[in-house]
Amino acid sequence: MKIDLLTLFPEMCEAVLNTSIIGRAREKGLVEFSCHQIRDYTLNRQNQVDDSPYGGGEGMLMTAQPIYDCFRAVEKLRGEKLHLIYMTPTGKTLTQERVKELSELSGFAILCGRYEGVDQRVIDAIVDEEISIGDYVVTGGELPALILSDAVSRMISGVLSTQEGYTEESHFNFLLEYPQYTKPAIWNEMSVPEVLVTGHHANIEKWRRQQSLRLTFKRRPELLENANLSLEDEKFLESLKESVGNN
Ligand code: SAM
Repeated sequence: MKIDLLTLFPEMCEAVLNTSIIGRAREKGLVEFSCHQIRDYTLNRQNQVDDSPYGGGEGMLMTAQPIYDCFRAVEKLRGEKLHLIYMTPTGKTLTQERVKELSELSGFAILCGRYEGVDQRVIDAIVDEEISIGDYVVTGGELPALILSDAVSRMISGVLSTQEGYTEESHFNFLLEYPQYTKPAIWNEMSVPEVLVTGHHANIEKWRRQQSLRLTFKRRPELLENANLSLEDEKFLESLKESVGNN
């Protein structure tokens, strides 16, 4: 998997991508990241990458030419047409499903915006997909691009120590994860749930499944429409609905 980041702050991206699990995945060659400085592709003497918006308004916009030339140079380097994602609050909200699909590509590129965003014409010319990390605005596309890079990388075989690392997690099967506990067994006069210390695997699995269903029902009921539910799950959810109805 090769991921190219087009940014005005490659050092910020490198710092994150060299750390912890992603850093180790990079060292092992499981995922290859290249951070490209858009400013290197300016054609003006001041290396200016932004200008004021036509029609007036607050702030500056990234100009089209350096982004376009940077992307074409990256494609040339890779020797193939690249899928380009622009991180933007106006894009489609990122989901675990889309993360999984992207992890199955051989690679893609990500454009990080700054200022008030990017000249629309370069989006129309080269961007294939626009992705948002949520309904809020951050100052630049680097953090969103790093979130996407991290989420995709951990889906790649070998990056996490076991596949359960992600298949058991929130959102993978349209369920939220059950609560988890670690040592000590009693902390601040609070004990871990009894079932977890019994060593009875079937009961522990059942408890976790029910906690997962309960939490999803309470916080994100819309996810349950896509979840793969057994008859037993359906029955449990019915009992939850009834208890809500009775209160
Ligand atoms: N003026 C833009 C708007 O209202 O949609 C916001 C620009 S924001 C200050 C600067 C850059 O940060 C954007 O070009 C984008 O790359 C990135 N960004 C900010 N919030 C984001 C989000 N929720 N998802 C993805 N990217 C985001």
